[in-house]
Amino acid sequence: IPEEPTAPATHGDELRDVIIVGSGPAGYTAAVYAARANLRPLLFEGAVTAGGALMNTTDVENFPGFENGIMGPDLMFAMRGQAERFGAELVREDVTALDLTGAEKLVTDATGQVHRARTVILAMGSAYREMGLPDEKRLSGHGLSWCATCDGAFFREQDIAVVGGGDSAMEEATFLSRFGRSVTVIHRRDELRASKIMAERAQNDPKISFLWNTEIAALHGDPKLSGVTLRDTVTGEEREGEFAGVFVAIGHDPRNELITGQVDLDDGGYVLVEGRTTQTNLPGVFACGDLVDHTYRQAVTAAGTGCSAALDAERYLAGIE
Ligand code: FAD
Repeated sequence: IPEEPTAPATHGDELRDVIIVGSGPAGYTAAVYAARANLRPLLFEGAVTAGGALMNTTDVENFPGFENGIMGPDLMFAMRGQAERFGAELVREDVTALDLTGAEKLVTDATGQVHRARTVILAMGSAYREMGLPDEKRLSGHGLSWCATCDGAFFREQDIAVVGGGDSAMEEATFLSRFGRSVTVIHRRDELRASKIMAERAQNDPKISFLWNTEIAALHGDPKLSGVTLRDTVTGEEREGEFAGVFVAIGHDPRNELITGQVDLDDGGYVLVEGRTTQTNLPGVFACGDLVDHTYRQAVTAAGTGCSAALDAERYLAGIE
């Protein structure tokens, strides 16, 4: 997202209809719908991470409407521009506190200013866990990926590695075996955490092999990933491994710090919503995108629930008028 001054001073003291927290596909889509419904939404984008998860990737080939694909940041600039065009006020600031339990919701930003709203849409997304290696950011979208559904097709007939030992790692590995010449699961322990059925499916797949007690110590390649240094977690011994693609599947952390204790969460920390709606346990508080979703986690599904959240907020506001 290009540098620009934060939104005009109009986001001062008035009681807003809608405040949106989060600037990924879910938040921006909610802003487009709320703005077009004349609700003049105020959206907090985050100071450093504005634009959400797709700012860290290159080609997005599965967002409908772009037959030749689109770069992740370009897609997010377009969503942002679309929200602004209809009058959404976008503020490049972090929200640091939320008080959502009353009829008037209080949203505090990093400057200490408190904003009031009748409804709040939560769209803070979910952070993919990283391995903590120096070249991880640089190679993200250049051979290093967090999403097999998104990027698997880039690695046809190539050697792929999957890092992790849980259900999502097994799911990614099984999915990737359709494309890759080989899929190597790299797991730091000597047994899987995955459920029996998921583990068996992967273990019975002739293209999938396992490196036990192994972790990635370093990533190599410039500009694209070409290989990794593997480390034995028991002996500490290191060796090189050649992979065109490495998929990291070691978990996700929904960004729920601001709402824990107010909004009901499931065991994984994702926001619980009622049925197919975006309604949380608190009246006037709606949640969408990856903050809610541990199943699909796609830009298009996040955008879809962002739309639902704005429509749910609009109906709620009509009901309290
Ligand atoms: P996010 O995109 O995570 O956005 C949430 C944003 O809200 C944060 O980044 C931050 O800017 C803001 N925020 C959070 N907390 C606060 C706060 N307290 N105050 C203010 N702002 C805040 N999906 C696809 O469909 N196709 C792909 O090709 C694809 N590729 C991907 C590649 C990578 C490397 C990654 C990580 C993900 C990819 N995904 C892809 C998944 C997709 O990016 C996510 O499913 C989607 O972005 C989720 O959208 P979201 O709006 O829920 O959250």
